[in-house]
Amino acid sequence: MKKPNIVILGAGYGGMITATRLTKQLGHNEANITLVNKHDYHYQTTWLHEPAAGTLSPERTRMEIKNVLDLNKINFIKDSVVEIKREDKKVILENSVIDFDYLVVGLGSEAETFGVPGVHEHAFSKWTVNGAREVKDHIEYMFAKYNNTEDKRDELLTFIVAGAGFTGIEFIGELSERLPELCSHYDIPREKVKMYVIEAAPTALPGFDPELVEYAMNLLESRGVEFKINCPIKEVTETGVTLASGDEIKAETVVWATGVRGSSIIEKSGFEAMRGRIKVNPDLRAPGHEDIFIIGDCALLINEEINRPYPPTAQIAMQMAEVCAENIKLLMKGGASLKTFTPDIKGTVASLGGKEAIGVVGTRKLFGAQANFMKKMIDNRYLFLLGGPALVLKKGKNPL
Ligand code: FAD
Ligand code: NAD
Repeated sequence: MKKPNIVILGAGYGGMITATRLTKQLGHNEANITLVNKHDYHYQTTWLHEPAAGTLSPERTRMEIKNVLDLNKINFIKDSVVEIKREDKKVILENSVIDFDYLVVGLGSEAETFGVPGVHEHAFSKWTVNGAREVKDHIEYMFAKYNNTEDKRDELLTFIVAGAGFTGIEFIGELSERLPELCSHYDIPREKVKMYVIEAAPTALPGFDPELVEYAMNLLESRGVEFKINCPIKEVTETGVTLASGDEIKAETVVWATGVRGSSIIEKSGFEAMRGRIKVNPDLRAPGHEDIFIIGDCALLINEEINRPYPPTAQIAMQMAEVCAENIKLLMKGGASLKTFTPDIKGTVASLGGKEAIGVVGTRKLFGAQANFMKKMIDNRYLFLLGGPALVLKKGKNPL
């Protein structure tokens, strides 16, 4: 009997965990498993605020796929997905076409602009390894340039973060922590540098515990960050940002962190989607497709308790991957009923730079060093799940 082709698109949290689980659960002769990713490395999106601000080498956030997955058991194709031909059961890649019997889509997300003009042209919005490198190099160039120009324009040293969600807050946490070192290295008085976080909602980190939000804002303000709350950005221009009020803030650096939408491949492939995310069935299949699973940031799942979508997180992407792998195995064995996915949210912990963080784990609120310890343990736990103790030793973080 012909072995089924299982194709996984994207080697992020969802794709990597699906791949490891399937290789463990299925015998060598049971299926051909193929993983497609645009790079030959996997990176931890959840760490990217650090290399973007220059507090961690980008090398620490990524690992070669061949060093993590057993390529005797899985076929890896380094290529970019162009389109999924759902009815033909084919995936068009830039350099080839592959057939699938079961497909797992884990292509992650892209920046959401909410139609604000100028984001793609004038802001940094790519939360990838190369995107992070670009932000870091640009920031350092601004510092280097300032002392070498006659006019000493303030905007060279003005850094704007659009959006006070977790991404924006974690990034400014790292940048504000690194600022003294940057100022000293480039001989720039600290008071010349301006850092703004601009948020449309009436609070930073909307929906998060107010006491922890206050802790984070006070800490960041003490490092010189200025918050502009209730202040939607209307446009990003060559010279800075224009606010809904009509005011302009001049800046040569705008880092965009106003949320995400699912991969553009989803809409391009004709799936019905909301902001690039497919509202999946409880077993994680795309409606109307018996053989296509959608996981991670491409999947939309409603939290029935509050009738709102679960946020797109690595935590959920990994849990989806486990259920997806199990369901593929069940389908292959002819199982009529598949497992229902229910997220098990353990909590949320966000770093604020240095040894500072905030978080809620279970019902417990964490601040400062305790939260920082927890955050590093979460980062290390993922490495453990993926590559065992060896990967933690190689890439892990010191929690103390
Ligand atoms: P991803 O992990 O983004 O992986 C997608 C993969 O697909 C990538 O390898 C990409 O290269 C590949 N790919 C994309 N397009 C193509 C294509 N066309 N062809 C081939 N390959 C392609 N969540 C948490 O739970 N906790 C956190 O602490 C946390 N921190 C975060 C910090 C930052 C700075 C950011 C930006 C996000 C954070 N998140 C966090 C959210 C989390 O990173 C995402 O929810 C998670 O990465 C989604 O996993 P995924 O598998 O869907 O996609
Ligand atoms: P988000 O949607 O959580 O936050 C984006 C923020 O931008 C919102 O507060 C929104 O009001 C604001 N915004 C939107 N349009 C704006 C505009 N025009 N001007 C100013 N502000 C505007 O997005 P995110 O922070 O990118 O996070 C994406 C996902 O990743 C979320 O699910 C988040 O929970 C997750 N994440 C988690 C962690 C963590 O757990 N430590 C860290 C980073 C990201």
